[in-house]
Amino acid sequence: MFAQVVRQDRFGDPLEAFRIEEVAVPEPGPGEVLVAVMAAGINFNNVWAARGVPIDVIAERRRKGEPWDFHIGGSDASGIVHAVGGGVESVAPGDRVVVHPGHWAPDDPWVQAGNDPMLAPSAKIWGYNTNFGSFAQFCLAQEHQILPKAPHLTWAEAAAPTLVGTTAYRMLLGWDGHRLEPGDLVLVWGGSGGLGTQAIQLAAAHGADAVAVVSDDKRGEYAVRFGAIGYLNRGDFSHWGVPPHWEEPSYGAWLKEARRFRKALSEIAGGRAPRIVFEHPGEATIPTSAFVCAPGGMVVICAGTSGYSAMVDLRYQWVLQKRLQGSHGTNDEQARAYNDLVRAKRIDPALGEVVPFHEIGRAHRDMANGIEVFGNRVALVGAPDAEAGASA
Ligand code: NDP
Repeated sequence: MFAQVVRQDRFGDPLEAFRIEEVAVPEPGPGEVLVAVMAAGINFNNVWAARGVPIDVIAERRRKGEPWDFHIGGSDASGIVHAVGGGVESVAPGDRVVVHPGHWAPDDPWVQAGNDPMLAPSAKIWGYNTNFGSFAQFCLAQEHQILPKAPHLTWAEAAAPTLVGTTAYRMLLGWDGHRLEPGDLVLVWGGSGGLGTQAIQLAAAHGADAVAVVSDDKRGEYAVRFGAIGYLNRGDFSHWGVPPHWEEPSYGAWLKEARRFRKALSEIAGGRAPRIVFEHPGEATIPTSAFVCAPGGMVVICAGTSGYSAMVDLRYQWVLQKRLQGSHGTNDEQARAYNDLVRAKRIDPALGEVVPFHEIGRAHRDMANGIEVFGNRVALVGAPDAEAGASA
């Protein structure tokens, strides 16, 4: 099969790291499914895989005894089941499917004991930590990752949202005590991006109100199209990053700006504060997220795109009893619940850019360089064009 392959001797710029090579089609082992890929979603994780930092995913797998000296990434796929391994009963060749990115060892004692598998020692993100993701004619996934494709979507649309959508679902509905409820206010960073567009729609689907943060009005209007009740332009504020120490004179200027942001948010939300803050920029925004979060509310975070060394002012954290919750990937239950909303046409995949297979490296470079699209990027693999694949 043809695949977009990353190798260690070309780690760095994704444009160089990805190259089309001919690779043997993997055999599905017990519990595994081989999918003929029609389209593949592009996510930031394979920018990291192409760079080889912070993890060299090839070296990591070889240390664990896997034989391959290359990486085929891709954590979102739409396609047709081509073959199944032993014991697979829930899907069959010919099924039109999407793949969710939660991957774990079926014999992991934590998983076998019925615990949340994304907290298992063997939990991985498919197509990043694992090989044979969707940037190839065939991808290899575990049976439990396979979900029915929404018939009304094209292959490109269907490949767009599952990783970000299931991640957003876990963030907003996966944490006891802070599951989305009707009437909640949710602050969503990056409201026009991959995660953000899904978070806004999940909030709306559960009767909650989302306010988006974006970097310009066009992005704000895009977020509103997906159901945000309003947006804040982060360019109108200047207090980003780690705040000065609270004893420094310049802390006053930071606090003034943070209060101005909180007031602008409150005006959009009719005087309410967000019970959930949907975080992923990290270092640049966490101080603000913790500051504006309602007493007893939760800041839930799945990434630190702007940096990992965030600062949390613990005075607000304990006195106002706020929660800072990490979240990563999805389990099967969350993925199915999210996919059911997509199949019921209650969540739009927010398809942004569609690129041909040979431009997967370029699309990752654009992503790495901050050339953002609205919504999600997808590469065509087996699909002839962006319109193919809808059957209802
Ligand atoms: P996108 O590029 O689609 O969207 C990110 C948005 O973040 C942008 O649209 C931008 O919006 C906003 N943003 C960027 N920099 C800043 C900043 N300094 N301050 C405030 N906002 C900023 O990416 P995704 O939504 O697909 O992914 C976001 C992050 O989440 C990535 O790091 C990704 O790797 C991670 N992720 C983690 C997952 C997990 O399971 N742990 C799963 C999925 C994604 P604007 O400029 O308009 O403000």
